[in-house]
Amino acid sequence: MRIFDPHIHMTSRTTDDYEAMHAAGVRALVEPAFWLGQPRTNVGSFTDYFDALVGWERFRAAQFGIAHHCTIALNPKEANDPRCAEVLDVLPRYLAKDGVVAVGEVGFDSMTAAEEKAFVRQLELAVEFELPAMVHTPHRDKEQGTRRTLELVADSGLTPGMVVVDHLNEVTVDQVDEAGCWMGFSIYPDTKMDEHRMVAILRRRVELGRGLGRVLVNSAADWGRSDPLKTARTGAAMLEAGFTDDDVDRVLWRNPIEFFGQSGRLLLDDDATSDAITDATATFEGNSVLRGSRD
Ligand SMILES: [Zn+2]
Repeated sequence: MRIFDPHIHMTSRTTDDYEAMHAAGVRALVEPAFWLGQPRTNVGSFTDYFDALVGWERFRAAQFGIAHHCTIALNPKEANDPRCAEVLDVLPRYLAKDGVVAVGEVGFDSMTAAEEKAFVRQLELAVEFELPAMVHTPHRDKEQGTRRTLELVADSGLTPGMVVVDHLNEVTVDQVDEAGCWMGFSIYPDTKMDEHRMVAILRRRVELGRGLGRVLVNSAADWGRSDPLKTARTGAAMLEAGFTDDDVDRVLWRNPIEFFGQSGRLLLDDDATSDAITDATATFEGNSVLRGSRD
């Protein structure tokens, strides 16, 4: 099974996770810029984080045979903090970089006016930089948040096929499908969507003749309770339910490549996705993943 996790926050995860992901078939991923679990207080805190996403974290993933991409944005939660407004001005610098494959995560958290303003501005940036957009839907009030999200996407001028609306469930999937956007599902350990519900959604789509296109499945693993192997577990649940190897490959590998490939910035060369763990003594700006083993 080859897997491309289209939404995972690796800066919060360990090298054990990278090893386990590689062993399970993960060869590529996208790490969306998001918040840190507590508020950032100034723009410099964001730029250091963005630099780490395009620098150290990409290097670290490569040491484990995984191609690392990222998305860059002011996340919905921090869009409410006036101290972070300036972040919008530094985004263009990052949206031009290699391996930055979308604007995101953008969207709604609590459905405030400040969130909407930042969301609209960042959809404009996606149009300007000809990049896809990754849109977060709120965990509360999901249906209304998704409806407003789709209205703003329609007004933005961005092609619906350039937008993934993420963290969907049984209630929100159809409206996103009808809008022509990509449907993202985050599979969590013990709340919200799990792999068996995901399989049921896929089966229903096949039964309705809608097929397996425009569907992305991710682990959304971060610093909270989460599981970076949820993509692999979904693949296993699909096979158990009678889906074919090719169906699994479509959902877990070819779909993310089709969606993020629209950026023209995927970094999927043979080196990055080789089976061998690369040289762990390699360095990035003088630092290796072997802590304490260098002078
Ligand atoms: Zn996320």
